[in-house]
Amino acid sequence: MTSWHVPRDLEDALAHVRNGATPVAGATALYSAAFPPVLGPAAVDVRDVLGRGVDDEEGAIVLGASLTIAELAADPRIRAFLPALATAAAMTANPHVRRVATLGGTIAARLLTADLAAPLAAHHGVVLAKDAASGASLEVGAVEYFGGAVDWPHLVTGVRLERPGPGAYRRFAPLAGPAPAFATLALVRSGDVLVGFAGAVGPTAAPVSFAAGHLPGAGELRDDRRASSWFRARLLEALSQEAHDELGRAG
Ligand SMILES: Cc1cc2nc3c(=O)[nH]c(=O)nc-3n(C[C@H](O)[C@H](O)[C@H](O)COP(=O)(O)OP(=O)(O)OC[C@H]3O[C@@H](n4cnc5c(N)ncnc54)[C@H](O)[C@@H]3O)c2cc1C
Repeated sequence: MTSWHVPRDLEDALAHVRNGATPVAGATALYSAAFPPVLGPAAVDVRDVLGRGVDDEEGAIVLGASLTIAELAADPRIRAFLPALATAAAMTANPHVRRVATLGGTIAARLLTADLAAPLAAHHGVVLAKDAASGASLEVGAVEYFGGAVDWPHLVTGVRLERPGPGAYRRFAPLAGPAPAFATLALVRSGDVLVGFAGAVGPTAAPVSFAAGHLPGAGELRDDRRASSWFRARLLEALSQEAHDELGRAG
């Protein structure tokens, strides 16, 4: 039996997390037997105490943790300034999951095949969080966060994307329709430089960075029962070619 708490505000939510409650946002990972997060004896619904804004802050874009994946895919500012992220959101799961799953829950779940991980990293994402014990604000790079850097009770409150700009996103999954990706790839243009990250391929949920013309080799990639590291390396070559072509067409 799980006791549910609806917090008055962020401070109240943090107090519940400090006392051992599991944060719940869209609950799509928590309610699916396919995913590792489990609901403990107490849960706190964080959706209404976290922001869902899309704010421009000195050239960076700050997204609230309670934005849904569907909102990320549809918001005209995200489509214009963070196109790789908007495309990844549109390709995540199915319409039902996208309508309820949140940005904060997706980041915090750190699923190995998370579609949003590579574009968040390529847009130089910084995860914004609150430490449950002290209430202190935390800022952690998306790559480090997906790699498990914050492994104590906290709440993700949003993400700051410091590199808005043209970008492309590609994924490969073996089935038509929604299915976990074998490999994903995000490419973002920053001035004269192309910044690339590969997702769903590394040993952890952390996306793997690469420079133009230097895709990660099989030795850096995950080898599991779904796909070999050699296959993932070949997939990245194809996805990279497509993403470069799209960015080239976009001028
Ligand atoms: C049918 C199905 C298909 C899917 N397909 C895809 C796919 O194609 N690509 C993909 O990337 N993902 C896919 N997913 C995973 C989906 O994206 C995640 O389930 C979802 O993003 C989790 O978001 P949520 O808001 O529902 O989080 P929840 O399920 O509420 O929580 C997930 C985890 O994060 C914690 N948490 C939640 N919010 C916070 C917060 N603000 N701060 C700290 N911790 C928090 C919870 O305690 C839990 O551990 C699929 C899921 C389902 C059910």
